[in-house]
Amino acid sequence: MPLAPAASLPPAVREPGPMVLVVEDEPGIADILIAYLQRDGLRTCTAADGPAALEVFRRMRPELVLLDIHLPGMDGIDVLKHIRGDGDTPVIMVTALADDVDKLLALRMGADDYVVKPYSPAEVVARVRAVLRRTGGAARAQAQAAAPIRVGRLEIDTQAHIALSRDDGGALQPLPLTLTEFRLLACLAAQPRRCFSRGHLIETCLPESDALDRVIDSHLSKLRRKLQDAGNGELIETVRGVGYRLWPGA
Ligand code: CA
Repeated sequence: MPLAPAASLPPAVREPGPMVLVVEDEPGIADILIAYLQRDGLRTCTAADGPAALEVFRRMRPELVLLDIHLPGMDGIDVLKHIRGDGDTPVIMVTALADDVDKLLALRMGADDYVVKPYSPAEVVARVRAVLRRTGGAARAQAQAAAPIRVGRLEIDTQAHIALSRDDGGALQPLPLTLTEFRLLACLAAQPRRCFSRGHLIETCLPESDALDRVIDSHLSKLRRKLQDAGNGELIETVRGVGYRLWPGA
């Protein structure tokens, strides 16, 4: 793996696709949806309950939200109301109950489409693409760059494919990351405190390989060392038996 500094990489390996926020409290279902969406060239972020959905929505500004109705904390209908209060980001509601569909139609809640479980992930991707085409989300996504992710001293620009770290004097310095290290950092930093399994990280950050868990461990240990060298402390935690998470201020 060449150790080229991230700053010297080409702007992007391929044109970044629109960002889809997947709101789903069942991790198995979320992982499958994310894998299908990413395979289709879409970028993803996720949340597992209502309050987290609103937080990630405001931070990541996705082009589309795939929103499960039955969620812990705050149900999908209430999340939809908040999103609607914040603009016209397209929302596809996901429900397990035909009753919910009646409710959605009756309330005219402003969802752009809905899918009923059980669905095929491929069908969901097709619906996502159709809604993005209809609403022009894809064009908007390319016109406006996504805001960089800021965590602690770090600033990660997934569009420019560059990770910067603020030094003690407050100046931003590029981190010399490999492509895989950059992807791992961007993935962990997009949802601080969320624990990611090694399987998920392999799927997201090393999609072209059938890497083993210890390959992820090796990339992460190099990433950690580079973050520490740049003064970021123990930013990435190992969660025993589960995987990794980024914990700001740890
Ligand atoms: Ca649910």
